[in-house]
Amino acid sequence: MGLVLKGGVPLLLLVAVLVWNWDGSPPVISWPAKLSESVGGQSPITVRLLDSGKGLASVSVVAVQADTRSPILTERIARPLAPWASGTLQRELTFSMDDTPGLAAFKDGAFSVEVRVEDHANWWMFSRSAATVRTFELDRTPPRVILLSTQHRIRQGGAELIRYRASPDTQHSGVTVGERSFRGYRQPTADSDEFVCLFALAHNDSVQIPISLWAEDHVGNRTETTLSVFRHERRFRQRTITISDRFIDTVLAEVIRQSELPAPETQLERFLLVNAELRRRNDAAIEDIAGRSVDHALWSEVFSQLSNSQVEARYADHRSYVYQGREVDRQTHLGFDLASTSQGPVEAANAGTVVYTAYLGIYGNCVIVDHGLGLMSLYAHLSQIDVAEGQQVQRGDMLGRTGKTGLAGGDHLHFAILVQGVPVTPLEWWDAGWVQTRFFSRLRAEDG
Ligand SMILES: [Zn+2]
Repeated sequence: MGLVLKGGVPLLLLVAVLVWNWDGSPPVISWPAKLSESVGGQSPITVRLLDSGKGLASVSVVAVQADTRSPILTERIARPLAPWASGTLQRELTFSMDDTPGLAAFKDGAFSVEVRVEDHANWWMFSRSAATVRTFELDRTPPRVILLSTQHRIRQGGAELIRYRASPDTQHSGVTVGERSFRGYRQPTADSDEFVCLFALAHNDSVQIPISLWAEDHVGNRTETTLSVFRHERRFRQRTITISDRFIDTVLAEVIRQSELPAPETQLERFLLVNAELRRRNDAAIEDIAGRSVDHALWSEVFSQLSNSQVEARYADHRSYVYQGREVDRQTHLGFDLASTSQGPVEAANAGTVVYTAYLGIYGNCVIVDHGLGLMSLYAHLSQIDVAEGQQVQRGDMLGRTGKTGLAGGDHLHFAILVQGVPVTPLEWWDAGWVQTRFFSRLRAEDG
């Protein structure tokens, strides 16, 4: 009895240590669930390695195409020194074909990635390994685009439409103007590889700004070519607006209250909060709404100007705001101010779908109508809104009544036209000749 106890304790202890030290499971190789079989040159390829117990000992990742074997990673990982410590239990490797030496020479088509991993041995003799092979399809060829329309011209603060064909693998395409990207819409014609893109040159974009046509496929291959567009420089009017304390205490106080902003201490700060900061936020909100546009034109006639209205302010008037005798702010007026009778009817300038009806800071009660292909019209300072979001409207349908909600000195309609969120001059859209030659003749153009 005593002997067994004497010898049993060290034996039990040894067994306990060995069991406690035993790494019962082999390493595991896994790929992210959403890893696609098709990869472009820049697509990230990720592989995850997991082990329990003593940790990973060696990792080997090799890419193979035909007779070419190109190592991506070969690594030996040291065993932890202390017997109770665990080693490297996980490793994640991400690489792309273009950024890995040796893989740049791989051609479009199938290739495979072989992964082999081994963990540190148990009791210095039983190591375990795992291996896997995954095949991919390499596609480094960008989509092709062919311009179908010709003679493009655009004015500062104006719009232009192009028509082009893009290869079937195209996922996104359009026009970039400087940093800004305008999306093209696939046309529902017999040849569905045709796209149109309506784009804008903002009032403050330089006429030297680079303009290009681009297309991207689903694995991120991108083609971009310079678009030849004749640009017209425009001069805009300068206007001075004098701000009174009374205006700040009545009109601005109401905008601050309705927008649920904390009112700053001084009158000047209150003015700047609304005229600069709130204006910036409201314009950003309008740009977000641009994404709600449908992929086809919802209209077929020229846009209409508010009936019996007088123009009080024009698109891109450069406004200097004077308070207590000095200039305190500068902003650009990005629509037309049209005055008719007080609380006069506001008609839809064209057919479309109402996409926004709400109070929007400086714009007051505001309605936005989508006309398709990224084109929208905006109606601001309304005293009353008579339509709901989602409602279809025809040209001339009543949207509401004019008013002076938001940043408005008197009853009028602020009318704006937006191309993918960028305000442009309504003059082009009110011009039947321009609409016909620059919009419809290109939209309905046959191939050639
Ligand atoms: Zn206005």
